[in-house]
Amino acid sequence: MELNANVLKNIRRVEPYVPGEQPQNKVIKLNTNENPYPPAPGVLKALKDLEYDRLRLYPDPAAEELTDALADYYHVKKDQVFVGVGSDDVLAMCFLTFFNSEKPILFPDITYSFYKVWAELYRIPYECPSLDEAFCIQKEDYYKENGGIIFPNPNAPTAVYENLEFVEDILEHNQDVIVIVDEAYIDFAGRSALELLDKYPNLIVVQTFSKARSMAGMRIGYAIGNPELIKYLNDAKYSFNSYTMNLPSLVCGIEAVRDKAYFKEVTDKIVETREWSKKELKELGFQFPDAKANFIFATHPEYDAEELFQALKKEGIYVRHWNSERIRQYLRITIGTKEEMNILFNFLQEKLKNS
Ligand code: PMP
Repeated sequence: MELNANVLKNIRRVEPYVPGEQPQNKVIKLNTNENPYPPAPGVLKALKDLEYDRLRLYPDPAAEELTDALADYYHVKKDQVFVGVGSDDVLAMCFLTFFNSEKPILFPDITYSFYKVWAELYRIPYECPSLDEAFCIQKEDYYKENGGIIFPNPNAPTAVYENLEFVEDILEHNQDVIVIVDEAYIDFAGRSALELLDKYPNLIVVQTFSKARSMAGMRIGYAIGNPELIKYLNDAKYSFNSYTMNLPSLVCGIEAVRDKAYFKEVTDKIVETREWSKKELKELGFQFPDAKANFIFATHPEYDAEELFQALKKEGIYVRHWNSERIRQYLRITIGTKEEMNILFNFLQEKLKNS
């Protein structure tokens, strides 16, 4: 019997997303853009104080308290917020809910590789306009007819941030389709598209607790948009997907949102380390587009990226490398602590000197 024939066609043809390695031993882990600092102290307390007996019960499917906390934080109404199991879950829900046209959706080539996976999986036609030479999105490419738009800002893996005027230009030319701005790294960058929500009811902004809030392990993401669109997301969630947030994530998420001072302290520290890291990398001869996320996308004109990647890995320093054409000579380096970055730079210095 051809077992294959029973498998959904879309799954058979999809090229699955390949996540960065998650080594379980102690390494210097600069490969999946996690935060090197722990979550806010209140998160640990909430985890410790969590009543064991509550684990018997299902969590609140509407995630009311976390939704309230986020609405408070961003000065929006509660019905403008949708939470999910990491922003990957939220983004997948958005693809499923909003990209439903015969016309192709648009997202950049190069960008977060999950977009292509979801488009293939849900059979959404797509086109991918190339980034320019400097790895910037060319906004004119997004002025043609389309079935929806998604792009990360800052983009991944390039770390290039486009300012609010740029985002607004794209919105201005695309008022009849849904435009999703994936702001996984916005807290390290600049102004958020959230400022444009009142003006553009077709805008959805997606953010995460995985990066600036140090909670990748908790899997919390959210979308903010106009209530009509958020309602559709909730309808889709309850129809297609049985996931609700788990109780520890709900309880801890609230604490993370409330601690504004800690959030600022950690993001400031990472931005400071990033700026210092840029100088160090430049001195070592690396080149990179200006990085505004918690990572730098760097190439060295004289050294093979794959070789450097392997040498670093052997040393227990994990960075990210892709074997795809245009970016084969690049490494994506997450900003760790200053100590971790120092170990990386010292190793690179030795390695480059002896090559
Ligand atoms: N968007 C972008 C651009 C990302 O790089 C990532 C993290 N890999 C995500 C979304 C998903 O993050 P999470 O599911 O952890 O919220």
